[in-house]
Amino acid sequence: MQVPSHVEYERATSVEHALSLLSRPETRVLAGGHSLIPMMKLRLAQPEVLVDINGLAELAFIALDGDRLRIGALARHADLLSSSVAGQCFPIFHDAERVVADPIVRLWGTIGGSLCQADPSEDLSAAFAAVRATAVIRGKDGERTVPVRDFHLGPYETVIGSGELLAEIRVPVRPGTGSAYEKVARRVGDWSVAAAGAVLCLSGDPARPVIESAGIGLTAVGAEHFVAAEAEDFLRGRAADEDSFAAAGAIAAGHCHPSADQRGPEDFKRHLVGELTTRALRRAAARASSEGNR
Ligand SMILES: Cc1cc2nc3c(=O)[nH]c(=O)nc-3n(C[C@H](O)[C@H](O)[C@H](O)COP(=O)(O)OP(=O)(O)OC[C@H]3O[C@@H](n4cnc5c(N)ncnc54)[C@H](O)[C@@H]3O)c2cc1C
Repeated sequence: MQVPSHVEYERATSVEHALSLLSRPETRVLAGGHSLIPMMKLRLAQPEVLVDINGLAELAFIALDGDRLRIGALARHADLLSSSVAGQCFPIFHDAERVVADPIVRLWGTIGGSLCQADPSEDLSAAFAAVRATAVIRGKDGERTVPVRDFHLGPYETVIGSGELLAEIRVPVRPGTGSAYEKVARRVGDWSVAAAGAVLCLSGDPARPVIESAGIGLTAVGAEHFVAAEAEDFLRGRAADEDSFAAAGAIAAGHCHPSADQRGPEDFKRHLVGELTTRALRRAAARASSEGNR
C-alpha cells in the first residue's frame, strides 16, 4: 500500500450541498471508502477533492413505499442485512449480504458505493439486476431514473456523470415472487469465484406453477450488465420445475464470459454458473410458493 496523493476534503451537510461541491472538477464522492481509499492509495484513483456524504442521514434509509422497496444510497450493507422488510420482500438481498466481505466491511460499506464502484465481482450489482431495480440519480438540474440493468457501462464505469450522485435504489415489489442468491468463494468473506441471483414470479395452479417472469443476475463471470438474459427469456411461460431450472442454468453458463484468473479457470467458472443458477432458481421457486407469498 502507498500513500494517496494530496486531496482536499469536504464534508457535505445536505444533498444540495454535496451537489454544489461535486460541480467542481476532479471531485469524487466518498461513502464507506472501502473501495475508493485503497484505489487512492494505489494511485488508481487520484481525485483532487473528496466529498464525504457520510453525514447525509436523508440518504440512509430502507423503507417499503407502496409497491416498491426504497433503499437510500447511504444505507450500509449491515442495514440491508438487518432490514426485516427487505428480507421479507427480497430474501435475495439477505442471501447476498451474508456473503459480502466480513462484518467490518458490511458495517461501513454502502449500497450506493457498491453499485457505483461497478466492480465486476460486486455481489449487489447482480442482485439488483436480477430484481430489475431502478437507480435514482440526483444532479444540479434535478432527478433522473435509470434501470440498474443500464447503470453499469463496463468495469468501474457507470452512467453517473460529473456533478451527479446516486441517491437511492427502488425495487418493484410483486406478490407471488421468490428470490435467492448463491455464491462460491474460495474462503469466507472473499469475493466471488462466481455467483448467481434469481427472482421468479409464479402464477397458475400452485401444484404446477408457471413462470410468469424471471430475473437472473450473475457475478464475476463477464455477463453483460450482470444479467443472464437468454436464460430469463427461456424461462418465461415454462413450468417452474427442475428441468426448466437445469436448462436455464446451462443456457446461463453458455452465454457468460468468465476469465481465467487466480480464482479459477474459465471452464470451472462456467460450471459454477450452471450449478449456482439452477440452485438459485430452485430456492427462488420454493420461496415464491411458500405459504403467505401467493
Ligand atoms: C476487504 C474487502 C472485501 C470485500 N468483499 C466484497 C465481497 O465479497 N462482495 C462485494 O460485493 N463487495 C465486497 N467488497 C466491497 C464492498 O462492498 C464496498 O462496500 C463497496 O465496494 C464500496 O462501498 P463504499 O461505500 O465503501 O464506497 P466507496 O469506496 O466510498 O466508493 C466507491 C466508489 O463509488 C463512488 N460512490 C460511492 N457512493 C456514491 C454515490 N452515492 N453516488 C455516486 N458515487 C458514489 C465513489 O466515488 C467511488 O468511486 C469488499 C471490500 C473490502 C474492503
